[in-house]
Amino acid sequence: MSIQSAHPARHRVVVIGSGFGGLFSAQALKRADVDVVLIARTTHHLFQPLLYQVATGILSVGDIAPATRLVLRKQKNAQVILGDVEKIDLEARTVTSRLLERETVTEFDSLIVAAGAGQSYFGNDQFAKFAPGMKTIDDALELRGRILGAFEQAELTNDPEERARLLTFVVVGAGPTGVELAGQIAELAHRTLEGAFRRIDPSEARVILLDGAPVVLPVYGGKLSENAAKRLEKLGVEIQPNAMVVDVDADGLTVKEKDGTIRRVDSQCKVWSAGVQASGLGKQLAEQSGAELDRAGRVHVNPDLSLPGFPNVYVIGDMMSLDSLPGLAQVAMQGGKHAAKQVKATIAGTPPEERAPFKYFDKGSMATISRFSAVAKVGKLEITGFIGWLMWLVVHLMYLVGFRSKFSTVLSWTVTFLGRGRAQMASTEQQVFARTAIEDLQDYERARAAGLIGDPAAVATGEEREAG
Ligand SMILES: Cc1cc2nc3c(=O)[nH]c(=O)nc-3n(C[C@H](O)[C@H](O)[C@H](O)COP(=O)(O)OP(=O)(O)OC[C@H]3O[C@@H](n4cnc5c(N)ncnc54)[C@H](O)[C@@H]3O)c2cc1C
Repeated sequence: MSIQSAHPARHRVVVIGSGFGGLFSAQALKRADVDVVLIARTTHHLFQPLLYQVATGILSVGDIAPATRLVLRKQKNAQVILGDVEKIDLEARTVTSRLLERETVTEFDSLIVAAGAGQSYFGNDQFAKFAPGMKTIDDALELRGRILGAFEQAELTNDPEERARLLTFVVVGAGPTGVELAGQIAELAHRTLEGAFRRIDPSEARVILLDGAPVVLPVYGGKLSENAAKRLEKLGVEIQPNAMVVDVDADGLTVKEKDGTIRRVDSQCKVWSAGVQASGLGKQLAEQSGAELDRAGRVHVNPDLSLPGFPNVYVIGDMMSLDSLPGLAQVAMQGGKHAAKQVKATIAGTPPEERAPFKYFDKGSMATISRFSAVAKVGKLEITGFIGWLMWLVVHLMYLVGFRSKFSTVLSWTVTFLGRGRAQMASTEQQVFARTAIEDLQDYERARAAGLIGDPAAVATGEEREAG
């Protein structure tokens, strides 16, 4: 199938991704004389910074993931297509996406690529099965099931060693996501679940935050790192710095210390938040354009965010490499708006060499540690404690998309932060096991395609044979 323009003569901008970069660039083109086609593999715009609150039962999926189609409902020049982009052809100016067996080819005049990044296991992808990352809604719901499931299993065992393993939660990576997650698992164990079990005391759970770096929140350093570490320890989180994870299995992790000592951490529930790898679409762009990729697979772009040799193609957000800018929501949003501006300038006749370079305005960064406590860095200003937490609260509310999301989030936060309650404590078997089932199915399909297994459709069931 190919996507036709509603106005064949009009400039068509294809946007890949409905995250911060994709959505903000599409919205910035609202009044432009263009057709916008936004293609994403998810139906929603995901507010990733609050994923850990879905994983720990504070927020619902709907709070942080409005349907992109509904967000753009009133933007008449925008069309939303669900599909996994498999191929970008820069010369033919087409994007090929797939939804199940349906293939769609969409032509573009300008292309904005904002497909983000996934988790990186630094060449050890086999760890993912036992220590999933937290990048998607599926990840967060699976993690919620794993965390709550570990408490449930601990309640049922009579073996003290097994109970200790089940009640040990390990977060790998002490960046903002790891810190926030560890803090929330600790609060869950100490506050929310207090008195809810009869045979175990949830507050005996160990929450371990591991990192190869010597401090937590290494990007902040100094006073903010120290403050975050103190707060975490007060919550009962065990910080284990200078610890490299060298193996992960179902029952725990193997860790190598700075002095080379190898030790074991027994734990059923492990989470990986240690690294990112840009979307594989970056490699395709690099191969076709000659652009370079950095170690995280991000594409080196021109100062105006365009792809070298292709002034009509922009790479933004977590996929772009420019001036060592970090993978932050603000970088993606501002990049999205800048790319949209260049598209408008092009239509107005501005040649590529006269385009303005992208200038990132650093509005600061922050990480929350527990209720009423966060660290924030705005320029040279370093803020900790309650004031930092209030700033965190306001900023996150500002950037949540849609009034309904903001309203329900405030309600959930009130219940959780002022009381003990968490409204989203349900989890299902499918949330925990679907990943394995899908992987098994994919293995099966691959084996079938390779001719290693027969086609089940060709094998009649017993009943059919009898009927025949
Ligand atoms: C758990 C977590 C916490 C974070 N916390 C913070 C924080 O506190 N502050 C902060 O500033 N930043 C934070 N970040 C980083 C921030 O979320 C990212 O920098 C930002 O989302 C990048 O935006 P993006 O548009 O480049 O990518 P994303 O927001 O990741 O969006 C990528 C989009 O591309 C789509 N996509 C991917 N591949 C394909 C494909 N092949 N075909 C079609 N669609 C595709 C995805 O479905 C998605 O819609 C956090 C990230 C995570 C994961």
